[in-house]
Amino acid sequence: MTDAPLVTRFAPSPTGYLHIGGARTALFNWLYARGRGGKFLLRIEDTDRARYTPEATQAILDGLTWLGLDWDGDAVSQFESADRHAAVAQEMLASGTAYKCFSTQDEIEAFREAARAEGRSTLFRSPWRDVAAGDHPDAPFVIRIKAPQEGEITIQDAVQGDVTWKADALDDMVLLRSDGSPVYMLAVVVDDHDMGVTHVIRGDDHLANAARQSMIYTAMGWDLPVFAHIPLIHGPDGKKLSKRHGALGVMEYAAMGYTPAGMRNYLARLGWSHGDDEVFTTEQAMGWFDLGGIGKAPARLDFKKMENINRHQIGMSDPETMLRDVQSYLAAVDEPTLPNDKAKAFFDAFGQLDVADKSVGDLLAKFAFVLDEPPFTHDEKAAKLLDPVSRGILTQLTPQLQTASWNREALEQTVMEFAEAQDLKFGKLAGPLRVALSGRAVSPSVFDMMIIIGRDETLRRLAAIAA
Ligand code: GLU
Repeated sequence: MTDAPLVTRFAPSPTGYLHIGGARTALFNWLYARGRGGKFLLRIEDTDRARYTPEATQAILDGLTWLGLDWDGDAVSQFESADRHAAVAQEMLASGTAYKCFSTQDEIEAFREAARAEGRSTLFRSPWRDVAAGDHPDAPFVIRIKAPQEGEITIQDAVQGDVTWKADALDDMVLLRSDGSPVYMLAVVVDDHDMGVTHVIRGDDHLANAARQSMIYTAMGWDLPVFAHIPLIHGPDGKKLSKRHGALGVMEYAAMGYTPAGMRNYLARLGWSHGDDEVFTTEQAMGWFDLGGIGKAPARLDFKKMENINRHQIGMSDPETMLRDVQSYLAAVDEPTLPNDKAKAFFDAFGQLDVADKSVGDLLAKFAFVLDEPPFTHDEKAAKLLDPVSRGILTQLTPQLQTASWNREALEQTVMEFAEAQDLKFGKLAGPLRVALSGRAVSPSVFDMMIIIGRDETLRRLAAIAA
């Protein structure tokens, strides 16, 4: 290998969203580059002009940005380098590693028909491969690579090991169409070479392409990158991930309440492992990620695991990141983001509490006590807890709180002593108190809430439900 800096890339075709498989591929490339002082480049494979829209490209950039994966330099458009791709085909023509093929579609079809009838391989063998330029007609042509006809092609894959194809199983693929446009396979190789890509980490649905692509590298005398073809992601049922499984786009996961850190952690573990480590920071993942840790078997989506990791990551989050995640969650579910005052209230409260939840939505529900405006509307469960008897008890508790010192210890002591005096279990008191302070049956601890909202607001809320 050369001493060139490590360069990885993510090369999505703009399909209208960043799907979860693509997100994982991007993450692996990003972790690998970032963990080794390399570069992570982004190339949009937008050569299919019939399907191309700027919105589809934007959706991919948005998905990557949400996931927290930054790329070096600007995203590169593959289509914009079409002239360069064509020039490489011409270079190959000039060096004799490619040739002009004048066979028409009808002739190719006839070749295949005959081959089928005779039980031979239907791989097209062009009669033009060795025809001298002087004998060429003045007619439309494609440029084909001169693929080796004997021996084998072996790709040394960092995940799959050595994978070998018999040369006679590969045809002289077209590099340049008769309209002068380059084919995708050529574009990928030229771009990867020109971008200085040293490691190609991508789905194993591209493994067979690597064999064809290697022929172009060899023909041009270019160094091959390290290939690492990662097994695809399967659904929870073990079948190849498809629309049937739902939730294919990363932004759908955002709307389900997964955080970018949760997703990064989960996706990193999806097909890669570092011992038994399940929950880790992105910095740790960067330090640990290596191609040797990628498994050969397809990874299965496991929503329980994903929730569990998300819960841990929410628990590990700092308030600033959590606030940003809350805002992007709200945007993903088409709800208004938090205005400044509420954003600040959330930030302060999150910083003071030790809470975790499996989704941002569930977490937000816990912060209703600082986000909702009293008077609260109570759901059935909350209303039940706040029956007239409980309201009466809380009314008696209020004067005790009025005089208590406002710290956790003092508040706990006051409430406990009150419960004892009333011959009440603490739980009997905590439920109604929780509803009075938060409007909900589920919330952080009542003492945490009292400290965060403060004495005046606590008393105001208790007065509002007084019997
Ligand atoms: N554009 C291809 C895809 O989206 C990836 C090609 C590559 O990584 O070489 O599947």
